[in-house]
Amino acid sequence: MSEIREFSPKRFAIASVTCPSCQIRIERDTKWCEACGFTGSKSMDMFGENPPPLLPILDVVDLWTPKEQKKIASAVKAFGKRFPQIKWRICAVMLGAEVSLPVFGFWLMNVCPLNTGETEEDREWTVLLLVDGKTGNTSVTTGYRAEVWLSDENWVPALAEASSAMRQGDTLQAVTNFLKTAKASFEKAWKRSQAQLKQEAAS
Ligand SMILES: [Zn+2]
Repeated sequence: MSEIREFSPKRFAIASVTCPSCQIRIERDTKWCEACGFTGSKSMDMFGENPPPLLPILDVVDLWTPKEQKKIASAVKAFGKRFPQIKWRICAVMLGAEVSLPVFGFWLMNVCPLNTGETEEDREWTVLLLVDGKTGNTSVTTGYRAEVWLSDENWVPALAEASSAMRQGDTLQAVTNFLKTAKASFEKAWKRSQAQLKQEAAS
């Protein structure tokens, strides 16, 4: 398999803190997960080598109307006012229960070439929200820099809200409620990290 691409081949390593397949914590740039054997190229075997461009709102299944997409865009903008370093990607899919959303998210984040004007660092600050219109399942995939800052359990309340709205058929609220709850979690994590920094400076 030729590896000449527009993105860094390093991305084929598992550039995350948790394995997307079995969720155990792993070292950055590990070539495979020692617990379940997951590799970055395994995701390419599953989903191919030509993902759609990872746009800010990627809705290839027409889950949202153009008007709803505008509302999502302004909810993202509101989040960005408080935390401008986070680059959101909101993506609707119809994958069904047999496909693992975290593995699909890993594939999108790692195999999608960078967009025009998007840097490698931007991608590492990217948080991808996936919603599955078929199952109502939701997941979050974070770039490396965002991930070390905000651990998985911070997403639990926001994802629970999103999934429950999805299952009630409210696909717009799934996203807007998610962003609202995620913002609150970020605030808490931010305060925690600031307090930690202060403590480190004092010792
Ligand atoms: Zn694993």
